[in-house]
Amino acid sequence: MNVDNLIRDNIKKMKPYSSARDEFKKRTSDFIFLDANENPNESGVNRYPDPQQFELKALLAKQNDVAIDSILLGNGSDEILDLILRVFCKPGFDEIISLPPTYGMYNVLANTNDISVREIPLLPNFQPDVATIIKASNANTKILFLCSPNNPTGNCFDVQLIEELLNTFRGVIVIDEAYIDFAIDKSWLKRLREFPNLIITQTLSKAYGLAGIRLGIAYASKEIIAILNKIKPPYNINQLTQLKAIEQLAEIERFTKQLKLLLNEKTIMIAELGQIDFIEKIYPSDANFLLVKVDDAPKRYSQLLDNGIVVRNRTNQILCENCLRISIGTSNENRILIKTLKTLS
Ligand SMILES: *Cc1c(COP(=O)(O)O)cnc(C)c1O
Repeated sequence: MNVDNLIRDNIKKMKPYSSARDEFKKRTSDFIFLDANENPNESGVNRYPDPQQFELKALLAKQNDVAIDSILLGNGSDEILDLILRVFCKPGFDEIISLPPTYGMYNVLANTNDISVREIPLLPNFQPDVATIIKASNANTKILFLCSPNNPTGNCFDVQLIEELLNTFRGVIVIDEAYIDFAIDKSWLKRLREFPNLIITQTLSKAYGLAGIRLGIAYASKEIIAILNKIKPPYNINQLTQLKAIEQLAEIERFTKQLKLLLNEKTIMIAELGQIDFIEKIYPSDANFLLVKVDDAPKRYSQLLDNGIVVRNRTNQILCENCLRISIGTSNENRILIKTLKTLS
């Protein structure tokens, strides 16, 4: 399949903004930089950051065994999702497919860009309805968003189903892997080269514990990355974020240890929540949260809130009637949650 045909004409034709740092990349102290209207007084951040985030991408490339030009970084994955929509979808004309119940940003970003959304609910087992997706798509259906592990259901989509979609869907497929580090299933990154229409998004906001720095990552063919790069804001990843990400990505041991602790806490939580009589079901989870079905979600939600505990009420989402989504906290936080749940009547 030829992804080039899916790109909007105006994006293909446009000339990108060329920043001072793009035009003159080399930054040694031998030079006097009078090209970017910066304040010359050293503050640690008085210069514009590297617009291509070379050092950070090089580290990600090495850790994940991908080429640097297969990586795009965003101010959170939300910025990346927005860039993807704007590259492929013509406002008022093209459409995307999302599979509710899922991450709300796909629809919000599509709505913002005047791109219509075809919603094809997951099957009751929370897996994609492949036949209906394929039947529903046409030449204007440019993007299919697959969130795996899915938020809020917590499960990974079956490998065979995703594979079938990758082989038959005629647009771009975005696999949102925000929670992949918590899953047993492997990232699709290893198979990126097999599928020219695949974009994988990941984030440092969840397992890496860096939600505050806003760093999202897209992996795709170098053709797709180049076109996304063309329209991204020039300095979209600030200097502090680049430095913090480089520092934290190097701390693999800390990451592994925290991940293990969180997964262990999840196991404990599943056992403990199973003892609460108004919890009717705990769905299997490949993420750092649990979707639980209770007797009366709005009631339990506000009871928890009265006790100073905030969870997410997902009862209004399709297939999630009376469901709460509970993030795995520290062991102390989790213990307080369980203790509180036991006092509720
Ligand atoms: C949390 C989350 C993200 C993260 O978005 P960032 O902008 O990178 O913080 C992306 N996708 C899903 C499904 C999420 O739940």
